[in-house]
Amino acid sequence: MVRYQAGLELPMVERGDGVYLWDTAGTRYLDGSSGAVVANIGHGRKEVAEAIARQVEKVAYVHRGAFTSEAGERLAARIASLAPASINHVYFASGGSEAVEAAIKFAIQYWSEVGRPTKCLVVSRWNSYHGGTLGALSATGHRVRRRNWERVLLPFPQVAPANPYRCACAADCPPCTLACADEFAAAIEAAGPENVAAVIAEPVVGAAGGAVVAPPGYFQRVRRICDQYDVLLIADEVMSGVGRCGGFLALEHWGVTADLVPMGKGLASGYAPLSATLIGDRVYRAIAEGSGNFSVGHTHSSNPMSMAAGLAVLDIMDREGLWEIAGPRGAHLLQGLQELAAEHPLVGEARGLGLLCGLELVSDRGTRTPFPAENEITARLVRNVARRGLLIYPANTDVNDAVLVAPPLVVQPDQVDQLLETLDAALADTESELDLD
Ligand code: PLP
Repeated sequence: MVRYQAGLELPMVERGDGVYLWDTAGTRYLDGSSGAVVANIGHGRKEVAEAIARQVEKVAYVHRGAFTSEAGERLAARIASLAPASINHVYFASGGSEAVEAAIKFAIQYWSEVGRPTKCLVVSRWNSYHGGTLGALSATGHRVRRRNWERVLLPFPQVAPANPYRCACAADCPPCTLACADEFAAAIEAAGPENVAAVIAEPVVGAAGGAVVAPPGYFQRVRRICDQYDVLLIADEVMSGVGRCGGFLALEHWGVTADLVPMGKGLASGYAPLSATLIGDRVYRAIAEGSGNFSVGHTHSSNPMSMAAGLAVLDIMDREGLWEIAGPRGAHLLQGLQELAAEHPLVGEARGLGLLCGLELVSDRGTRTPFPAENEITARLVRNVARRGLLIYPANTDVNDAVLVAPPLVVQPDQVDQLLETLDAALADTESELDLD
């Protein structure tokens, strides 16, 4: 039996089509979070299945040290053409955590290649998620997910998150003074700039807070701080990239370019395990002209089958105009979520960027007080929503309850309305269980 939590009974999935999934008992679910914010182009796309089959018939696997492949070269060129002008090289792996690990290693290697080998620390933020492997987890600011491993994690410093709903930096916020961005400068000074390789941040915080969007000007200031202290910027776009927030990268909304960009999830939209680390020219040149050895890799790095899936997904993104759909479709979704927030005492805030939206759940909207963790409000809402045939994604931390609402980019306006109606009913179910109405 496949189990990742003792005693957890899950429905057995049968098939998917567009934004819907069916289990073997015949129940239909609207996939309101694209799984873990993965299925950007929707389920059951035959064109991707055929592209994968064609690649597997030719050759499914080669080791990246022995061969390159047409699928790999074409996918790297496509990604470079979509990325900012100063990013022209890509490293491929299977999952987001591997892509983040690679970004951290490339950053550390970069400083070593340019003769500054003490620069090894990565500064990140509390209430962030960068992955489950030990390096990525060391940069992750999610206390619950770190808890069992704290004693073996790397000593990476964490600073306050950029969260306008729960500003931890300035008592009188708003107006926002971007004190949260300045925390990076303080942390770099405290650690010594000679010891800091990179800053890592999600442009929109996903799994560790529920679609928390940094304030205007935040990433511009973070970029300036990185430049001032000679520190690389890693934008973790594993969840926010590939059209999810509109455009190829969410960081484009701040007009900022990072040095290294881990991506995953929507890149192959769940049709194959695929992730990528985009490498800026400055980092690429230093390593290429230095040792020449990009000393990161896994057995399935540059797997031809996964890259054929990625190419087919990008073809669909182009042909169906999905790069910019998250703007208008996300505005429709967010407006509906904000209307729910106005009606439901359980909802403290509705927020998001493009089709990466979330709800923060509170016990008191006036004081923004969260429920005690033992009430497991996030899990309760996710369960009640699923009972009504809608899937959303838990994004709670030790300091808040939150869910992600992020349907596939192919969601149609009437399906957004259906999602909102179901969520409305499930919020009411949850409030009556809690005696909140
Ligand atoms: N980075 C971000 C921003 C993520 O949201 C995630 C997963 O949710 C990861 C990294 C890790 O990706 P994976 O679970 O594919 O290893």
